[in-house]
Amino acid sequence: MHASDSTPAPVGVQQFHDVMVPNYAPADFVPLKGAGARVWTAEGDELVDFGGGIAVNSLGHCHPALVEALTEQARKLWHVSNIVTNAPALHLARTLCEVTFAERVFFCNSGAEANEAALKLARRRASLKHGAEKRTILSFRNSFHGRTLFTVSVGGQPKYTEHFGPLPEGIEHLPYNDCAALEAAVNDDTCAIIAEPIQGEGGVIPGNVEFLKALRAACDRVDATLIFDEVQSGVGRTGSLYGYMQADVVPDVLTTAKGLGGGFPIGAMLTKREWAEYLPAGTHGTTFGGNPLGCAVAQRVIELVNVPAFLQTVEARGEALRQALSRIGEQYGVFREVRGLGLLLGGVVSEAWAGRAGDIVKAGHAEGVWCLVAGPDVVRFAPPLNLSEQEMGDGLARLERAIQGLVPA
Ligand SMILES: *Cc1c(COP(=O)(O)O)cnc(C)c1O
Repeated sequence: MHASDSTPAPVGVQQFHDVMVPNYAPADFVPLKGAGARVWTAEGDELVDFGGGIAVNSLGHCHPALVEALTEQARKLWHVSNIVTNAPALHLARTLCEVTFAERVFFCNSGAEANEAALKLARRRASLKHGAEKRTILSFRNSFHGRTLFTVSVGGQPKYTEHFGPLPEGIEHLPYNDCAALEAAVNDDTCAIIAEPIQGEGGVIPGNVEFLKALRAACDRVDATLIFDEVQSGVGRTGSLYGYMQADVVPDVLTTAKGLGGGFPIGAMLTKREWAEYLPAGTHGTTFGGNPLGCAVAQRVIELVNVPAFLQTVEARGEALRQALSRIGEQYGVFREVRGLGLLLGGVVSEAWAGRAGDIVKAGHAEGVWCLVAGPDVVRFAPPLNLSEQEMGDGLARLERAIQGLVPA
């Protein structure tokens, strides 16, 4: 068969296994089309999207303003490389500096790349400023920072590095939200501390404000770099533009991706002038970073999200979703706790449901609601930030039906 044959190939999970590296285990539906918080599938079903493409579709599917930003830019200029700069990248960088602590921005294409840049920057600064022995990176158990060899080694989930060795050295993992363990670990060899202000993949676990403040104090004490990984918590997800704003703890470096492009791939590392100076010309880079298409879309995302009234609705909708999930959790004995911030919530399953978060998500698919897991014991919710009441109500009713179906009669 020639690739040019015009008959469309059948689309389904079986076809995935015929042609894809099996590193993913896709669900048994294939979305073809989306609008707002709904998708329509190749199988002819409609689902309410409570996962948002894993906290990426910050404004839902195919938001008209983002389609406009993308197509407008697509008619002008797609790619120029970093041999030159470009207007959308400069515009977005200026915006990000205006709305956050940042004074300098590095663009890339994913969360892992943003963290890779942050970790390399921290190592280079420590080495040049203090010497090669200041190299220890402190990270936290159950954290997730991406899948490149460096970021996956820094991440706190050993199963993700098994059989990929030899791994980068000089990384220590500490318990999250544990100030005493932190104090015991920090010393003059500490190069950086990297933390998610709210752990996403690790189970939707918010960092205590005292803990986040302790990270800042520790870094100040030994001149280490404080990196906040806000790849999942950023761009309005928690009800603030970035999570650090709620804790009132300012990092030296912040990484952002997922929701930044509202579904278009883009990542960024935000930092301060003093730190930026340690990545002079030639020390780091990426071909697609700062490409005009991604930057034009992200610009519009920030303009739409960074509006006080919008962020207030994220908080209000998050609170309503939390209450509804708590009610369902209690009624069916399925969740022992619903935790999180804004519209990043996790239903922690009760003892009777241990290990069954995936079953709940799967039953949801059959009823027309698309949730996520965060490990075997947490059902995760990261819907579009502009989730409507109707979408939320429909999704919750379907989730409740799915759970009812799982409860033994
Ligand atoms: C998803 C995620 C990453 C990795 O982002 P990619 O775009 O998949 O590379 C890093 N950190 C956190 C906190 C994430 O949630």
